[in-house]
Amino acid sequence: MKYVSTRGKAPVLSFDDVLLTGLARDGGLYLPEAWPQFSANQIRAMQGKSYVEVAREVMTPFVSDVIPEADFAEIVEKAYARFEHPAIAPMKQLDGNLWLMELFHGPTLAFKDYALQLVGHLFDYVLTKRGEKVTIVGATSGDTGSAAIEACRDRDAIEVFILHPEGRVSEVQRRQMTTVLSSNIHNIALKGTFDDCQDAVKAMFNDLEFRDAYKLGAVNSINWARIMAQIVYYFYAATRIGSPDRTVRFSVPTGNFGNVFAGYAARKMGLPIEKFIVGSNRNDILTRYFETGTMTMDSVEPSLSPSMDIQISSNFERLLADVYKGEESALTQAMAEFRDTGSVNFGDGRWKQIVELFEGHRLTDEMTLQKIKRAYARTGELLDPHSIIGVVAARMAGASETATIALATAHPAKFPDAVERATGVRPGLPPHMSGLFDREERFEVISNDLDAVKAHISSKVDG
Ligand SMILES: *Cc1c(COP(=O)(O)O)cnc(C)c1O
Repeated sequence: MKYVSTRGKAPVLSFDDVLLTGLARDGGLYLPEAWPQFSANQIRAMQGKSYVEVAREVMTPFVSDVIPEADFAEIVEKAYARFEHPAIAPMKQLDGNLWLMELFHGPTLAFKDYALQLVGHLFDYVLTKRGEKVTIVGATSGDTGSAAIEACRDRDAIEVFILHPEGRVSEVQRRQMTTVLSSNIHNIALKGTFDDCQDAVKAMFNDLEFRDAYKLGAVNSINWARIMAQIVYYFYAATRIGSPDRTVRFSVPTGNFGNVFAGYAARKMGLPIEKFIVGSNRNDILTRYFETGTMTMDSVEPSLSPSMDIQISSNFERLLADVYKGEESALTQAMAEFRDTGSVNFGDGRWKQIVELFEGHRLTDEMTLQKIKRAYARTGELLDPHSIIGVVAARMAGASETATIALATAHPAKFPDAVERATGVRPGLPPHMSGLFDREERFEVISNDLDAVKAHISSKVDG
């Protein structure tokens, strides 16, 4: 499989280069040149298969010209070996036609493990084969950092630097990062905000001399390999409840649009999905776009679901690439307009095409707490402030004959304060993390100064 940029002006790459590249040189995002197709019979045959088997089958067409089948099978097996639930992504029935897929049984309790555990092994495999090393630099407001650290710890070919804003992530989130004492993991507590962390990372990627000297790599969801790994659980979930002989809808708590785009990819590959319901908190740029046809930036407001506190959903460009097919320069222009003016209209025809398949619903913090309380009373499920948005958005989308699967993106123990406020019950950490509050922490506090951050990275990598 070859990969092309959404903006059409970057080199066409193979899977291993896409894995290591991140953002395309023309500012776009990479997508496969064509979508692999699965027939109804092939999908039906997945009904009896394990998560690992479905994963191997769904992802093989994306990698098979670069990674031999037997090697890939081993990579997938290892990637899901650390998950705590034997089903990997178990399904729960919430009412007659609504299911919850739990995507929080990985090492750091958020759905990002499902992709990053695989990406860690893929990095290792590709780099070992090439005899190269990479320096991962990332900014986190919480979940991505810990998932990336768990995925890349103890790997010789990877040095990992994760910047978090000092004092501005929850204690569980911080400890999940800083108690990993592996010698290739470097936590930086930046004296600044999350935006400062992100700006520092961007500046390092834009400093081509620095970028090349240290071979910087990215682990955020612009990396195609993360999307690829997330396609798997859409196939897995739908076939648990009868697809392809049953059409389904998915409801997805959304920030950067990476997760729900993976569902769109599954649909392109043959899975019968009727609708995507996009849940947001008060940071509702996507919901407003679906309602009005105009995409307008707003300031980011902190909410109870911080992993969805996002102003620009970067992966939306991957969906736009489909409605702008063959008009890459018009897409490039639209994205520039959005960046320069903070607002863009992609055209009525394209908007109609998009809202045939997508609809958005938002929840305020107050509703989020109320609904967590209500879900607990009705079903005994403790849902975290992100997952509840998926469940409630599914209900807001109205009655439908079609089965709906809501994605639970984080374990309630990852956001214990909000869950306790809503229900009076403080969710406990699962057994494998029970020692988290007693473990030694290690991190470096660095002033909000790009040169200081770069000097720190240089000294660690060169030393
Ligand atoms: C990252 C994250 C999201 C948002 O996912 P996107 O792929 O960015 O849309 C939602 N919930 C949780 C718990 C997350 O960590």
